[in-house]
Amino acid sequence: MRIDVFTIFPDAVDRFVSASLVGKARRAGVLDIRVHDLRAGAGDPHRSVDDAPFGGGAGMVLAADPIFRVVEAARPPRPLLLLGPAGRRFDQDSARDLARAKVGFSLLCGRYEGVDQRVADHLCDGELSIGDYVLAGGETAALVVIEAVVRLVPGVMGNEASAAEESFAAGLLEYPQYTRPASYRGWEVPEVLRSGDHGRVARWRLAEALRRTLERRPDLIRARGGLDPQEQALLEEFSGIAYPQESRGPLPSGGPVTDAHEEPDAS
Ligand code: SAH
Repeated sequence: MRIDVFTIFPDAVDRFVSASLVGKARRAGVLDIRVHDLRAGAGDPHRSVDDAPFGGGAGMVLAADPIFRVVEAARPPRPLLLLGPAGRRFDQDSARDLARAKVGFSLLCGRYEGVDQRVADHLCDGELSIGDYVLAGGETAALVVIEAVVRLVPGVMGNEASAAEESFAAGLLEYPQYTRPASYRGWEVPEVLRSGDHGRVARWRLAEALRRTLERRPDLIRARGGLDPQEQALLEEFSGIAYPQESRGPLPSGGPVTDAHEEPDAS
């Protein structure tokens, strides 16, 4: 898979994608990540890529011409996605879609007050936002997208199964994980995980995933249409939680079920 990144900070992006799993996959030839310097497209000796906004106002805007030049010369894999707070919200589903892109995809990082609109209108194929906050530049957002996508690409993570089980994979948060020692400062690893009973471990994990999701992200439970009777039974067996919860009061771990993450108009 090829991923092209367009940025005015190529060294920073390159350094990061050379590290960890992404770097390993890159060296193994599974990933072909090419980082392009937008300043290479500047026409003047100062290599300036930004200019003041038409209509006035604070800050500078990345100009169209250097971006068009560098992108057109690189002929990057499409879709070419502009990173920006006005884009479509990036999530695990978008990561999965991008991971399936055969050829690859490309990311364009804005800076300053943003990018000349003609770049979004006539060069890019879409816009992605990593959340409702404003960053100083698209580079960290590009890295977020790359990490989320790349770990879903076959051959990148050591254990393919882990991506299928983890948070959001089935519309649930992941169950809690533990490693050695079995007892740490008096805090014990749940007995079931040490029982060697794989069937029971699997059922406990699903019950914990359900409990956690219900507790922390009830919006996710609603989005998957609630719990089926088997899941309800599992939850009751392992966590003593009756679902729907309204009938038996609050969850045992304390704290109200919060809708803080809810997005009423998310679709
Ligand atoms: N003035 C713009 C923000 C510019 S921030 C506005 O109000 O919408 C500068 C650059 O940072 C953007 O061009 C974009 O590439 C990047 N950026 C900022 N916030 C982002 C977010 N939430 N997701 C993805 N990229 C973001």
